[in-house]
Parts: sequence; C-alpha cells; structure tokens
Amino acid sequence: METDIGRTQRKTERRSIVGERIKQCKTDAERQEAISEASKLKAEVKELEATLDIAEKECLSAALAIPNDSHPDSPLGPESAAITLSTHGPEPLPPDPKRDHVMISEQFDLLDLKSGSTVTGTSWYFLRNEATLLELALTNYAMSIAVQRGFTPVTTPDVVRSDIAVRCGFQPRDDTDPPVSHMYHITPTNPSSPELVLAGTAEIPLGGMFANKVFSSLTLPLKVVGIGHAFRAEAGARSSDTRGLYRVHQFSKVELFAVTEEEASESMMEEILSVQKSILDGLELPYKVLDMPSEELGASAYRKYDIEAWMPGRGSWGEVTSLSNCTDYQSRRLHIRYRPQGSASDSAPARLPFAHTLNGTAVAIPRLIVALLENGAILNESGEVTSLRLPSALKPFWIGGSGRNIV
Ligand code: AMP
Repeated sequence: METDIGRTQRKTERRSIVGERIKQCKTDAERQEAISEASKLKAEVKELEATLDIAEKECLSAALAIPNDSHPDSPLGPESAAITLSTHGPEPLPPDPKRDHVMISEQFDLLDLKSGSTVTGTSWYFLRNEATLLELALTNYAMSIAVQRGFTPVTTPDVVRSDIAVRCGFQPRDDTDPPVSHMYHITPTNPSSPELVLAGTAEIPLGGMFANKVFSSLTLPLKVVGIGHAFRAEAGARSSDTRGLYRVHQFSKVELFAVTEEEASESMMEEILSVQKSILDGLELPYKVLDMPSEELGASAYRKYDIEAWMPGRGSWGEVTSLSNCTDYQSRRLHIRYRPQGSASDSAPARLPFAHTLNGTAVAIPRLIVALLENGAILNESGEVTSLRLPSALKPFWIGGSGRNIV
C-alpha cells in the first residue's frame, strides 16, 4: 500500500513534470489543462504535507517518551553507583580551604561576581585579568589538540530552535506544574518565527548541523569540534555548588562531536575519551574517569563517561567533562542516516540505517579555572597563597605576560 510519504513524493514529481509541460504547450487549451492539473496537484501536496506534519509531530512526541537503551556494562542506579575506570595525574593535594578558588580570585583580581550580579543576576560573572587570558589559552589549547586529532573546528550559533534541542534529547521545559524551565527562552521579535532557546551546550547546534542528511559511509566518521557558549538555567542547583565559578549560568565550552556508522560508535567513544585525557594530562591535574550509572544517562545517552578533577579548595572531586554515546537516539529524531558501502545508490532514504552520534566536553572553562587555581596555588609557610603556577602546556597559548605572581 502506498504511504503518505510515497504519495507526496509521487505528486511532487508529477507537479514538476506538469510544470515543464506548461512551458512547452503549443495551444491555449493544452496550457489551460496543464495549469489546472498543476494547481490541483499543488493543493493535494499541501494537504498531504499538513497530514505528514501532524504525523511527524505525533511520532516525535511518542519518541520523546522513550529514552535510549543503556549499555550492558553501564552500572545500574544513581550517581553514587558510578564505577571509577581509571585515575590519572599527580597525587591529589590534601583538602585545604586556603586553596578556595573564590578567595584566590579575590586576591589576584580574577573574578567579579558583584558586577555579574548587578548586570545580570546571581551566578553571572565577569572574568578578569589572567582568568580571561586563561579562558583564551584553554580554548586554543583544547582546540589545537582536537584539530591535531582530526576534528574540524566549527563556531556554533548560541541560539537554537527549541525543536532541535528537543530532538537532541533536551526538554526546554519539563512537564511539572508549573513547568520548570531548563533553558533560557527567547521572545521572537516576529510572532511567526520558530520558538528559540539559548543553547545549553554546543552539542545541540552541532547535532542540528547534521539534521536531515544522508552521508555516504565512505565519509564517516565525521568529527567536529565546536566553540560555543553554554547557557544553563540551573533551576534547583545545590547552593554549595553555586559558590564562585563551579555552577554558573553561562560558560564557554569547547565540544567534541562525532557521527559514525552504527558499529563504530563504541570505538569512537574510546577515541574521544583519549582526546579528553590528553587535554587533562597536559593540565597536570589529578583526575579520574567514571562509567556513569543508568540514572545519570538522561534520555539520550546509551553510555556516559564523566571525568572528575580534584579541587583541593572545595575538598572534593568535581566533574569537568562528560562524554556520551547517544547511538541512534538523536539521529532518529534529527533524521541523520548513512548509505552503507555496497548499498544501491537509489535505495529510498527511509530504508537506510541511522547514524550514531557522540558528544564530549573538550574543555568547560569555569570548572577548569577552579581546578587550575586550587591545584596551582603556591602557599608559603604560614599558609598564604603567594603565587599561582599554570601548566607549561598552556604557555604556547598564553597571550601577554602578567608581570604578576602567575607563572
Ligand atoms: P554537561 O553538558 O551537562 O554534561 O556539562 C559538560 C561540562 O560542563 C560538565 O562536565 C562541567 O564541566 C561543565 N558544566 C556543566 N554545567 C555547568 C555549570 N552550570 N557551570 C559551570 N560548568 C558547568
């Protein structure tokens, strides 16, 4: 039985044939007949497209109620069930409140939370002096490693259609009463424009960049590294987390993203993890890699590895990166497919397999500033911070000498 999609395609093709015929008609009668067939086809296609649009919306809302499967090796349960896969870097320093990044930032004039609060609100901030230079150095350092590892650099839009966020597995609002907004919504100037939100992560525009495309398997994997800003409403954040730079509403982030054939996503996950590890190794931070449990996977992830770095001023490990293999969760909703080698070049797109997508943090700036300040502080015998040491891997990316005790 012919489907509505097939019928729409057939009528659209017929319309373009009739359109060509109109140009070649020799008599008025022939032209009138062709014009009336074309307008009848136009009306039929419009009606079919409206039906398809409704069906697509119904499918999407049903699909959103279904989370991804999880990897058989992912631990089951809440965050505390995470398994430590490996630990790296120098021996962690003992917890020490004198290494608190907020105090160090005040001493060296690196962070202005007061102006952030005046200009925008609580948990908004200005970076200053070496903290600003650190953001630039970390961004370029991470970018250079990602580009060397074959990722194409991309600058992403920070504003995205709400629909694309939903298709990537992000719910701009949840269904509690009243609904809690996880994203910042933008009021469009033109009422007919689509609903827009500020991107919570560059994963959303990067995933959306591949939407509605069919790739030859010969072009896969596609590996991109995006620079963008992440905007988080952070409704319900724990107050201890919102101190200083640990949990803020806006931050710069370099994000790794890949599109693979279905059988290649698990090895791509290990490849992205090795990029993340080489970035952190160069930063000389104590860190550990965690296999995240089922309750931490969200809707889209099949498997998730987080990396936590030691933050002695906070006296705890803090998540600095996250890596998810979303298998075909996002590509089913974004329509990202590939044509396997050897498949007929005319096989209908609807019969082609869905690609797999993965995303992982290369650097999320504020948490790395916390870790670098708290681990890099040099204290004198009376326990006062006298200077800050930055990892030598950042030196090639450091613009301008400070002339201060930051080396
Ligand atoms: P996510 O996309 O939520 O997995 O976050 C990616 C990374 O961004 C995390 O591993 C953190 O390093 C960082 N991050 C997430 N949320 C915040 C926030 N509100 N403030 C600062 N950094 C954050």
